[in-house]
This record gives sequence, structure tokens and C-alpha cells, in this order.
Amino acid sequence: MTPRTLTILGATGTIGVNTLDVVARHPGRFRVFALTGATQVERMLEQCRMHRPRFAVMSEPAAAAELRVRVGAAGLAVEVLEGAAALTEVATAPEVDTVMAAIVGAAGLPATLAAAQAGKRILLANKETLVVSGQLFMDAVAASGAELLPIDSEHNAIFQALPRDFDGDFQRAGINALWLTASGGPFRTLSAEAIAAATPAQAVAHPNWVMGKKISVDSASLMNKGLEVIEARWLFNARPEQIKVVVHPQSIVHSMVEYADGSVIAQMGTPDMRTPIAYALGFPERIDAGVSALELMGRQLTFEAPDTARFPCLQLAFDALAAGGNAAAVLNAANEVAVARFLDGAASFGAIAASIAHALDVVAGGAAATLDDLLEADRRARRVAGEYLAGRA
Ligand code: NAD
Ligand code: MG
Repeated sequence: MTPRTLTILGATGTIGVNTLDVVARHPGRFRVFALTGATQVERMLEQCRMHRPRFAVMSEPAAAAELRVRVGAAGLAVEVLEGAAALTEVATAPEVDTVMAAIVGAAGLPATLAAAQAGKRILLANKETLVVSGQLFMDAVAASGAELLPIDSEHNAIFQALPRDFDGDFQRAGINALWLTASGGPFRTLSAEAIAAATPAQAVAHPNWVMGKKISVDSASLMNKGLEVIEARWLFNARPEQIKVVVHPQSIVHSMVEYADGSVIAQMGTPDMRTPIAYALGFPERIDAGVSALELMGRQLTFEAPDTARFPCLQLAFDALAAGGNAAAVLNAANEVAVARFLDGAASFGAIAASIAHALDVVAGGAAATLDDLLEADRRARRVAGEYLAGRA
């Protein structure tokens, strides 16, 4: 078997580390071509020691300079590159057949889109890319013949529960609806007042999953589910009314497909991202993920409706999806700014939804035909949300 050659964008993050964990369980099956990070030199050095990539990219030049010295001192034959352009280079290199897209936020868009244009097999964790550039991204995938495998546990579950020959035609496949499960996050049972005043430490303490800070805050606000609704719209060619959200606090059922005959097919498992990662890495084969077996005896699985009054971010995402055009790019950019301010202690949790609603009011409705239109919407939304949060709007 020729090994699959991998570039891992965002290797130093939670998804990147889990990906390398699965890769290390299968010597000979995968070869690591490039790893990328932003600032975490120590972790990248460790990963270079362990996986011997040809290239290590640090998007921050100062971090790249430091890594170059450390790699040299360690006698590793790894070439260190820097800057955003290098991310695209290693994502499109002809030697690479598979790209794990696991940078957080719209920062991952250029390299992920380039990998799509280059016809790679893309393991997509970076949901923000699809939220910002959905139509454009899916067009690029179709035009190049790239292969798109979802890593987000919900979308990976749906992918597993769909017919293997699903071509985006719900009618023909007999599909009524896609059901995205949501854990409800750490604030599921809190009052609106308590949620509005929540601290960063409370927000990042997710009950079931260990994740990066940004997605942890998104999970607490349910914006993560909102982004996933938009992600599902593009991945599976679903109409907004065909995407349903159900809160399932145990995170055992990862999502479901409802069929015309009344069947509902769910994918279940221990909440561990190595399962969807291994599914996509091995596809169409099933490979060991190092995940403990699901223990169902004595467990209760419960389901409840999401409360958009206490979690307005979820409604904002449905609104942005219905509005179309540049609205989802605006939603995403304003959210990224608000979450960063919240984590810095400069904005309240309640201000996240308020600033996104403001940015949608001011910026949504503009052109969205080209990547430039979307990047312009992203820039304007960041400015407008930032001014709002600084009390200058
Ligand atoms: P993380 O914060 O742990 O890691 C982010 C990675 O992106 C790091 O390697 C970091 O160096 C890199 N990065 C950050 N900013 C960058 C920039 N400006 N330029 C280049 N690289 C940059 O995040 P994560 O939890 O691993 O999430 C990564 C992506 O996967 C997100 O889009 C998230 O929504 C998605 N995702 C994560 C999980 C999870 O369980 N962690 C589940 C589903 C989807
Ligand atoms: Mg998810």
C-alpha cells in the first residue's frame, strides 16, 4: 500500500494533535509532508521530532525564526517556512494527496480553498471556511474533483448515516431532514442573566469535549451549532428547513439522518474526535482510532429543544443562512472578534450576540459573488463589531 501523504494545517491545535495521535497508530499508512502552526514553537518542535515532516510552517515569522534555530540544534532535516503564503504552498504541493484543514477561524480559508482548487482530499475541521465561502468553496471542490470528508463530529456522523452514493438530492435519497445534535454546552441550564454575565473560565469548561478556546466559547453560546447548521447546508446541499437541531447533553448520538420511511439513522460513540478523524483518514476503510468502546449499559440518552431566547447566537445563524449573500461571512467575522474580546476580558458574554446582530444590521446585504466580496465583508464586519464592542457604535 502506498502511504497517504499528509499536510496538517493547524497541527499544533486540538484537532491537529488528535490527528497525529491517530497517524502514529498506523506506521506505514501515512507519511507527514508538512505540519503548520502559528506560535507554539515547543509543541511544533516535538511534532517534528516525532513525525519528521519535510516542512514545518509557522504563520508567525518570529515563531518560525525560533523554530528554525531549534530544529537546527536538534539536527532535524525539516525545512521551516513562515507566513500565510507558505500555508497555501504546503496545502497544494503536488506530493500531497490529503490535507487536514484544522486552522481555527477564517484564517484557514485561503489555504483550505487552495487545497480544494488543487483537487486534494480535504479532511475539513475548519468549519469557518465553509461558513464564509460556502458556495465558492463547494464550486471549487466540484470543479477540481477534490474530495471533501467532514471532521466535525456531527457532519461526520451524517456522512456516515447517508447512502454512500448520496449526490445532494434529498428527494431521490428519500431524506426528510438532517438532525444535528448539540450538547447544550456548559450554560445549558443557566438563566439568561447568568449566561450574559458568564466568565471566560466558565465558558471554556465544556462538559463533554476538550477543544480549542474559540470553539469552546462557540459551544457555550450555541454559535458553534449555528455555524454547523450553515456548514451542513453546504456540505450536504440541504435547504435551511431540512436542518434541525436537538440538544442531547450526553454527546453520545453525534447526529442523525431522518428518512421518508420513518427510519432515523444515527451514528453513536464515545465523544472523542479521534473517531471522526480516523474515519476520514482511513476512508473508505475503518481503522483503529485508539478510542475506548462505547459503554451504553446503565446510560440515559436524553433530547430536548434548543432555547433560542437564552441562546440568540443560534437564531442569528439561522437568520444569516436565510438572508444568504455575505451574511454568513459577516456573522462569522463578528463572532470571531467578539469571542476574542470576550476571552481577553474586554467584552461580556452577552455582548457576543449583540455585536453580531449589530454587524449583520450594518454590513449584511452586500455583494457575495467573489472571494474578494467575502473577504471585504469579513473585514468590514470585524471593524463594525470591534467598534460596537468598544462602545463607539
Ligand atoms: P485550536 O485553537 O486548538 O488550534 C488551532 C490551530 O490553528 C493551531 O494549530 C494554531 O496554531 C492554528 N492557527 C491559529 N490561528 C492561526 C492563523 N492566524 N494562521 C495560521 N494558523 C493559525 O483549535 P481546534 O479546537 O483544534 O479547532 C480547529 C478547527 O477545527 C476549528 O475550525 C474548529 O471549529 C474545528 N473543530 C474542532 C473540534 C474540536 O474538538 N477541537 C471539533 C470540531 C471542529
Ligand atoms: Mg461539532
